[in-house]
Amino acid sequence: MMLDQLLQPALQEREAASLYRRRRVIESTQGPEVVVEGKSYLGFCSNDYLGLAADPRISKAFIAGVEKFGNGSGASHLVLGHSAAHHQLEDALAEMTGRDRVLLFSTGYMANLGALSALVDRGDLVLEDRLNHASLLDGGLLSGAKFKRFQHADVASAEQQLTSDDSGRRILVTDGVFSMDGDIAPLPELAELCQKQNAHLVVDDAHGFGCLGAKGAGCVEQFGLSQQQVPVLIGTLGKAAGTAGAFVAGSETLIEYLIQFARPYIYTTAMPPAVAAATLESLKIIESESWRREHLKSLITRFREGVSALGYNLMDSDTAIQPIQIGESALAMSLSRALEGEGLFVGAIRPPTVPQGTARLRITLSAAHTEAQVDRLLAALEKHRGLLDGLNTQKLQRSASV
Ligand SMILES: *Cc1c(COP(=O)(O)O)cnc(C)c1O
Repeated sequence: MMLDQLLQPALQEREAASLYRRRRVIESTQGPEVVVEGKSYLGFCSNDYLGLAADPRISKAFIAGVEKFGNGSGASHLVLGHSAAHHQLEDALAEMTGRDRVLLFSTGYMANLGALSALVDRGDLVLEDRLNHASLLDGGLLSGAKFKRFQHADVASAEQQLTSDDSGRRILVTDGVFSMDGDIAPLPELAELCQKQNAHLVVDDAHGFGCLGAKGAGCVEQFGLSQQQVPVLIGTLGKAAGTAGAFVAGSETLIEYLIQFARPYIYTTAMPPAVAAATLESLKIIESESWRREHLKSLITRFREGVSALGYNLMDSDTAIQPIQIGESALAMSLSRALEGEGLFVGAIRPPTVPQGTARLRITLSAAHTEAQVDRLLAALEKHRGLLDGLNTQKLQRSASV
């Protein structure tokens, strides 16, 4: 059989289940207003939470970085690819997060694969929240350690797993802010549990970094968690920081260990130095322009108050991620399409990214949105609310006729 014939059935199955994914081509900068395939839309699905992805000051630093360091890094960090810009960014991130040292990675996916696969091995345990990001699950599986999950954000469930396990080295891994739900992990309680159980806490703060804490250092700043309490802190730079890349922050020993043993760190080309130079500018803006976090917060409140009056199933989140749970994938797609018809872009998130039966509209807000733009989204949600009723009526009719 030809390879394509072997591949086709899985594609057809996805399509039939309303789970097929298609890319859209964006032709403008990131921001609330985007041009997609020739048409203008108001977007509510980017992770550019602070509105920095197209900030001209960061662009300027990018260009200056290219002028100083050229285009590519030319090599891996260990083979002369580690530029002064990378080094300075590591120092700035360590200062900001209150950690001894930081190690840059090219992407968050690689930081998670690298950190988890280096930290534990056969005979060890990796215990993860069941709603952790795919890259954390993949990193745990790649490590070869025993892999277990606990109920979402449930400290008692995590405790139960730890007390019934006697593996050598044990790490407990969680998102700081959950990427598809928007809620925040119970970090102080998990840190306490880890100390009591002699386990080590790993937090991936991809969606908290930049947004949480007075200076934007993320969930560890918000909760005041020390390096001892959260020995392994991971953050990404492609979301609120508006550039690209990721980092692991922790002790001197942790960072030296990762430099020696984290394969996705060692065997890859360093990010272009200009990305690091641009990110340095981005950190300055994150720390000094706290109005961005304040404005974002007020938009979150405005959105939640508005949507709760409309009868949608809004998920329990105080962050920029404000998902509306829909349930069936086909219905989530219909709503997303209806909103697109109104000139609004809102992503429908379906399995396997989220558990079966929990398809949702993943609405994200940004400090770059205005109140009027949020109101436009609310008005469109109100207008198309009937799609939900339509489905419920069909279901009732179906069950009545059985
Ligand atoms: C986006 C994300 C990542 C991956 O980061 P990239 O830099 O985009 O590869 C990792 N963890 C979480 C929780 C994320 O949301």
